[in-house]
Amino acid sequence: MIWYPYEQMKTMKEPYKIVDAEGVYLYTQDKKMIDSVSSWWSVIHGYKNPVITQAIKEQADRFSHIMLGGLTHEPVERLSSKLAEFLPGDLDYCFFSDSGSVGVEVALKMALQYYVNKGDMKRTKVLALRHAYHGDTFKAMEVGDDEDYHFILEAYGEKKYTVHIPTEIPALEDAFLKYHNELNCFIVEPLLQGAGGMRMYDISFLKRARQLCDNYGILLIFDEVATGFGRTGNRFVADLVLPDIIVLGKALTGGHIGHAVTVANKKVYDGFYDNAQEKALMHGPTFMGNALACSAALRSIELFEQQDYMSKIRRIKQITRREMSGFTDERIKEVRIMGGCVCIEVYDSSVLDGYQQFAYEHGVFSRPFLNYLYAMVPYIITEDELVKVLSTMKMWFEKK
Ligand SMILES: *Cc1c(COP(=O)(O)O)cnc(C)c1O
Repeated sequence: MIWYPYEQMKTMKEPYKIVDAEGVYLYTQDKKMIDSVSSWWSVIHGYKNPVITQAIKEQADRFSHIMLGGLTHEPVERLSSKLAEFLPGDLDYCFFSDSGSVGVEVALKMALQYYVNKGDMKRTKVLALRHAYHGDTFKAMEVGDDEDYHFILEAYGEKKYTVHIPTEIPALEDAFLKYHNELNCFIVEPLLQGAGGMRMYDISFLKRARQLCDNYGILLIFDEVATGFGRTGNRFVADLVLPDIIVLGKALTGGHIGHAVTVANKKVYDGFYDNAQEKALMHGPTFMGNALACSAALRSIELFEQQDYMSKIRRIKQITRREMSGFTDERIKEVRIMGGCVCIEVYDSSVLDGYQQFAYEHGVFSRPFLNYLYAMVPYIITEDELVKVLSTMKMWFEKK
């Protein structure tokens, strides 16, 4: 039997069984619904994108997978060149992995070893944000601050290697003053904290973080697994403030196959480049650089560029602003909009009980969590479809 994610299996509601998916639509046996979640924010071109599907088929006819240990192949070579060109600054050195969590693990290992390679063994701490989410593996969980994990992490007692701060400049400055000798990196979900509650904050915080990291020689990591490829209304937040390491996942392959990449700048790469074998990065997921995933990612990035996705995202933001303007309810704490993300935060999570089924009946798939009802739609959504997603959200409050 299947053990489903984030679910108490004893009380879990039956999942909707999907038999087909195309564009923004998921199909059950007797209903079609707009996926307002984009399959965990990844399916930016919609389902079954013909160009990406074709790329996968063509590659599958050659070979589906070849390990990168001692071997290489054209799709991974082309994707790494493409990423180097597509990403800002000297974020040029691509380490592939199979999921965002692993991509984060790799980034954190790079940051720690960067200093160990220099003989500095004291920089064992990571600075991270309150309400951060960086994935479900152990180190990712530790640098995260997800309420769902507090319960299990309690078994370990106080976190020794992570310092959490709110997204406020004075707290940032204090943390650097206090811990700068012990920190190897500052990791953030830039501008938009996703799973921690679609929390949005200002770019000035990241600009100050960049200055402080430079002053104290600490690495800045952007976990853009969720924010990358336009979700905040920027291609990457790294276009505005340049990190030393960026992690991409989710939308990397247009959501067609799981894959992630940790991209380092020259400074970080040079910290490993040496005659000494022990200074090498000791990591190598079995399926890193999978040929099907790389072929999908290449096509996905080409589509993103050729079809001017940034204008699609601007249009989503405009329509969302228009539809949500003036919408309030006494149960709503805040309505937040950034790029291709809208979130309604309610005071009491029970207000959202039953919403998923209500949305399903109205032809929309939604998955609220805690106090957050949100939409992160595929960028190819039409105006009518987007209005439907948003009006379903509003209707829930109006009907009660
Ligand atoms: C989803 C997510 C991850 C984890 O990615 P997986 O592919 O689920 O392992 C890491 N960081 C952020 C910001 C995410 O949103």
